[in-house]
Amino acid sequence: MLNFEFKNPTKILFGKGEIAKLSQEVPKNAKILMVYGGGSIKTNGIYEQVKTALKDFEMIEFGGVPANPEYSVLLKALDIIKKEKITFLLAVGGGSVIDGVKFLSSAALYKGAEPWDILANSIRTYEGLPFGTVLTLPATGSEMNSSSVISRKETKQKLAMGGPGLFPVFSILDPQVIKSIPQKQIANGLTDAFTHVLEQYMTYPIGAWLQDRFAESIMQTLIEVAPKIMTDPSDYTIASEFMWCCTMALNGLIQKGVPGDWAIHSMGHELTALYGIDHARTLAIIAPSHYRYNIESKKEKLAQYAERVWNVKNGSTLEKAHEAILKTEEFFNSLDIKTKLSEYTTDFSSTGKIIEENFNQRGLKGIGEHRNLTPADVRQIVEMSF
Ligand code: NAP
Ligand code: FE
Repeated sequence: MLNFEFKNPTKILFGKGEIAKLSQEVPKNAKILMVYGGGSIKTNGIYEQVKTALKDFEMIEFGGVPANPEYSVLLKALDIIKKEKITFLLAVGGGSVIDGVKFLSSAALYKGAEPWDILANSIRTYEGLPFGTVLTLPATGSEMNSSSVISRKETKQKLAMGGPGLFPVFSILDPQVIKSIPQKQIANGLTDAFTHVLEQYMTYPIGAWLQDRFAESIMQTLIEVAPKIMTDPSDYTIASEFMWCCTMALNGLIQKGVPGDWAIHSMGHELTALYGIDHARTLAIIAPSHYRYNIESKKEKLAQYAERVWNVKNGSTLEKAHEAILKTEEFFNSLDIKTKLSEYTTDFSSTGKIIEENFNQRGLKGIGEHRNLTPADVRQIVEMSF
């Protein structure tokens, strides 16, 4: 196991009716900016619950954060934070709203002239404006981690940021919010969370038994939950399992003592920036090609995954590794998630080349857990996904 430090300060309030406890968690005398997305919270009752819980607080609202939170929109919220001297941010939404609020938390205290530099220059955030979240869509784990991904249409970029100052102070997880989520977004959530686990599990050297078994149990639970939550998102028992799996998949715990790959996410972000494909779907496009391309270096771990998660009993290590990739594709397909780029766009002939050039321009010499996948490798992986 590698050396590690572990601190996750986010307080979780999980279960039915927990949104009503908001007033106990927000600091007294806070001036709040409540940030939300395109309006789903206004039709499913979450908005009312938040407003009722915080009726005694001074609160301004900022709605309209789009999926793949957009820099130019967030700058408008940043203006309000500064003009109104906001002291606490509240994200009410999915990963996009929470990531947007993390950017705002960092940018509110950033001393530089151009907040985009936080992303472009990978400036880590050690202190941000405090914020809490009410999660409305299980998927990203953003409610209990310190990362964020922000898009900028103008430059066709989608970049990540983070730092120990970007953990939510608290996150409220009421599984009842799941009943209004469209099936397509539930499929995205399952796929994103599953791939988060894969990115932390399918790495070398092998040598963290407990983390492996944590990871395998999250994947097994997601596989068991998937057909049930897709059919009935109002089943509270299943919704609870789904929600907690997504949080546990990316709250730092399973990454301790092991290297993180994250190559699938790096390439996936490029596909969202170029084509606007949903985040989770870009992962389903890249993951099979990434594992096939790297089968020699990852085959033992892929075979372990085949045996323990998919019950594959027969075959050589290499055969089991290939079977594992097939099973993963079948799982995504069972959620009606397509795994080829050509199923999303006809404009793909130069995608590999464009992404290779983007990586070169950003000076990214190598990605993956050993930083040994070069921009030329990335091009080949992307081209395999056509
Ligand atoms: P999302 O983009 O936050 O939301 C997707 C859609 O779901 C929105 O249209 C939203 O509508 C709707 N929605 C949310 N909750 C709903 C509910 N309870 N009922 C009905 N509709 C609901 O989706 P996401 O998958 O959670 O977030 C994706 C973003 O997170 C991407 O930008 C991705 O790159 C990023 N990400 C971050 C991390 C991290 O660690 N920080 C990890 C992975 C991915 P409204 O807008 O109308 O509310
Ligand atoms: Fe993700």
